[in-house]
Amino acid sequence: MKIAESTLSIDGVRQMAEFYGAQKWLARARDLQPNDSEFLIELAGRACYKSFGVGLNPNVTKVRDNPQDYLTNILEKGDGSVLEHATVTFAFLNVSRIFTHELARHRAGTAISQESLRFVRPREIGVWTPTDIKSVSKEFEEAIDEIVKLYRNLESRFDWEKMTFEQKKRMTSALRRILPDGIGTNVIWTANHRTLRWVIEMRTHPSAEVEIRKVFDKVAEICIRDYPMLYADFTRKELPDGTSQYIPKFSKV
Ligand SMILES: Cc1cc2nc3c(=O)[nH]c(=O)nc-3n(C[C@H](O)[C@H](O)[C@H](O)COP(=O)(O)OP(=O)(O)OC[C@H]3O[C@@H](n4cnc5c(N)ncnc54)[C@H](O)[C@@H]3O)c2cc1C
Repeated sequence: MKIAESTLSIDGVRQMAEFYGAQKWLARARDLQPNDSEFLIELAGRACYKSFGVGLNPNVTKVRDNPQDYLTNILEKGDGSVLEHATVTFAFLNVSRIFTHELARHRAGTAISQESLRFVRPREIGVWTPTDIKSVSKEFEEAIDEIVKLYRNLESRFDWEKMTFEQKKRMTSALRRILPDGIGTNVIWTANHRTLRWVIEMRTHPSAEVEIRKVFDKVAEICIRDYPMLYADFTRKELPDGTSQYIPKFSKV
C-alpha cells in the first residue's frame, strides 16, 4: 500500500515563481496540473531553462504550456533526473525475505526500512504458497509446519524472561538461521519516480519472480492511477498467471 508521497509547499512555490517572474505561469499551471508530484517535477524541469514563459530566457522562443506535453518531452529526451525530485513510500506487508532481497538490489533512488529479525522474535511464521506448486501444496505446507515445530522447540529451550535484551537479540538472531526465506515480513520502501519507472519495468517482466511481479503489478496500478501523466507511456499486458507486465515507451529515462 502507498503510505506517503511528495507534496508542495505552496508558499515556497509562490515565492519561487516571484523570483523567476513566473507568476503568470503559476496562475495557469496549477489549474492544468493539480497533482503535487507531477507539478514538482515540471517545476524543477522548467527551472533549468527558465522555461516558465517566453521572454524569461532570451534564448527561449517557445515553451510547451501543456503539462502532459512537457512531461512526455522530458521522458522522450531521457532527462530523467528531474523525476528524482518526487518520491512515493510504500508499506509492503507480509512479503517474503525472497521479495525483500530482490527489492534491495535496486540501489539507486531508494530508501529501505525492513523489520529486524534480530530484534523481533516472530510470533507468527507464515509462508505464502505460490500457485506454481499447487500440485504439492500439502507437502509444502507440511514442510513449513515441520520447520515451525523445530523452531518453537529450540525457542522453548531458553528462559527468555531471565535474559537481558542483548542476550535475547543474540539468541533471536541465532535461531532465525533455520527459518525459511519465505517467512512473511514487512518493509517500508521509498523510491523516486525515475527509479519507480525502472523497477516497474524490470519487476513486472515475465522473467521476474512471481511474488515481486505480483507486488509491482499493484505498484504500477497505483502509479498509473495517481500520477497519470508521468506513467502515460506505460502499456499493460496481461500474463497467463493473471499478473500484468507494464512496458514503457520510454525505457530507463
Ligand atoms: C528477471 C531478473 C533476474 C535476475 N537474476 C539475478 C541473478 O541471478 N543474480 C543476481 O545477482 N541478480 C539478479 N537479478 C538482479 C539484477 O542483476 C539487478 O541487480 C537488479 O535488478 C537491480 O537492477 P539495476 O542493476 O538496474 O540497479 P538499480 O539499483 O535499480 O539501478 C538503476 C540503474 O542505475 C544505474 N546504477 C545503479 N547503481 C550503479 C552503480 N553502482 N554504477 C553505475 N550505474 C549504476 C544503472 O544504470 C542501473 O540500471 C535479476 C533481476 C531480474 C529482474
